[in-house]
Amino acid sequence: MTEQENKQLAALLFPGIDKTPDYFEEKYPERSLPEGARVTRFAPSPTGYLHIGGLFGALVDVLTAKVSGGVSYLRIEDTDKKREIDDGVSAITNGMKAFGVHFDEGVTGFGTEEGAYGPYTQSDRVEIYQTVAKSLVERGLAYPCFCAAEELTALRERQEAEGAPITGYFGKWAKCRDLTFDEIKRNIDGGKSWVLRFRSDGSEEKRITFEDMIRGKIEMPENIIDEVLLKSDGVPTYHFAHVCDDHFMRTTHVIRGEEWISSVPKHIALFRACGYRVPKYAHTPQVMKFDDETGDKRKLSKRKDPEAAVSYFVVEGFPKESLIEYLLTIISSGFEDWRRANPGVPALDYPFNLKKMSSSGCLFDLVKLTDVSKNVISTMKAPYVAENVTAWAKEYDPAFYALIEKNPAYLEAALNIDRENPKPRKDISKWSEVPAYLSYFYDETFDPAFTLPENIAPADAKAILESYIEVFDINDDKETWFNKIKALCEPLGFTPNVKEYKQNPDAFKGHVGDVSTVIRLAVTARAQTPDLYSIMNVLGGDAVKARLGSAAASL
Ligand code: GLU
Repeated sequence: MTEQENKQLAALLFPGIDKTPDYFEEKYPERSLPEGARVTRFAPSPTGYLHIGGLFGALVDVLTAKVSGGVSYLRIEDTDKKREIDDGVSAITNGMKAFGVHFDEGVTGFGTEEGAYGPYTQSDRVEIYQTVAKSLVERGLAYPCFCAAEELTALRERQEAEGAPITGYFGKWAKCRDLTFDEIKRNIDGGKSWVLRFRSDGSEEKRITFEDMIRGKIEMPENIIDEVLLKSDGVPTYHFAHVCDDHFMRTTHVIRGEEWISSVPKHIALFRACGYRVPKYAHTPQVMKFDDETGDKRKLSKRKDPEAAVSYFVVEGFPKESLIEYLLTIISSGFEDWRRANPGVPALDYPFNLKKMSSSGCLFDLVKLTDVSKNVISTMKAPYVAENVTAWAKEYDPAFYALIEKNPAYLEAALNIDRENPKPRKDISKWSEVPAYLSYFYDETFDPAFTLPENIAPADAKAILESYIEVFDINDDKETWFNKIKALCEPLGFTPNVKEYKQNPDAFKGHVGDVSTVIRLAVTARAQTPDLYSIMNVLGGDAVKARLGSAAASL
């Protein structure tokens, strides 16, 4: 076709497009950012589900931008699924918010966004794609294809039968590639539907190389396929939208899942055809786990693994700090050393480096997350823990919420036991454990049934409790409190001295530890608890006396 015909064809295909790409070049100028600043994007499809791999990818995007003084943004890629899934967007933005992952720009919720490079939802950008597409047609770099789905299937079958090196729409097989202007016009006037295809100038012999920021140099055959750019409804394919969006949003680093590596030759060809600078690529590894049954490493699956969904961690009540801390340990090999050298610093201040990411799968292990989380929670202050527990319970455990919301100071005091000290307890890994953990602090959930250790006879336990009720005083300081427990020992045949007991076990019924255990069991019904003196002080004198009394009566 002549240059003139290309122009006519562009006008015929895109009668409603009156802008040129220059209009958008001006509208979305190069960003004025410091040298080396990286612009990254998280670009999920709104499927109504945020996969842990998505949160993982988003963290990499945000940190890469942040450490370089750049910009990260959230773009919604809804060209496949259209907009009907409003909740799909909220699942993403809420998931990000729940875990404290913040983008500088882009979509902020369903129908809301901020930033000067929008709209940030692909279905709102059709004019941009069509403007670029029109200019490709004008330059003879794209053409309409009228082949129906059955023809494409037949083509594939022929290619397979003839042993073509690859299958697809290219070269001599691309039957619409050389239609004349008149033929095209006749088809269009006849109402035939069309897709727009890229006119590839790639060659089967040539190879391209590119530098992946995580994987290093990658070499692949050049693209030769006349890829679909616009579908028959005028909506772009992922490939074309990626090129237009990352150009006009001025992305410098495209960080995305490794499943896209094989498409890079296509993307590079398209960037070049459009006259755009090719961004840097980084393809992140999959999030994997060890299969519980086979023990083999496999991809975290939406179907099999509840923990594949970010919402799982919200429902379970894993604090955002724990999940982020854990994800960083699997994302970056340097994180744990950095953490040791920088305790207390927010995890998102980690000086992340893409090059330190492993290119093989990142292993996600719930058991390790649980350990990390226990550590993280042990460093939190009680008011913050109480606030998080309350917010979690309000949503997911209404009965517990009803108990704790009556007396926030009481909850905080219970959570503060053994907390701010050099060796805080590491009992809690997620908020959903707290109702059971604190059950004895609330009469409504306290189950007074307990089992005495074998070495303590019920009659002795009863005697201990009865004597203790006589001397117990909630106003005692800790030393007096403990001295009173020690003083119970001898008259009842126990010894206050553990060493003495060990030297001569037959001379005693037990030692002060056993006496404390009986009191602990009476007050909490548990053999192991945090500091008993503190527990009693939180419970208050009346509650303690009542529990000592009924425990004694039960023996
Ligand atoms: N929408 C694509 C996906 O969800 C994004 C890939 C990309 O980041 O470019 O897989």
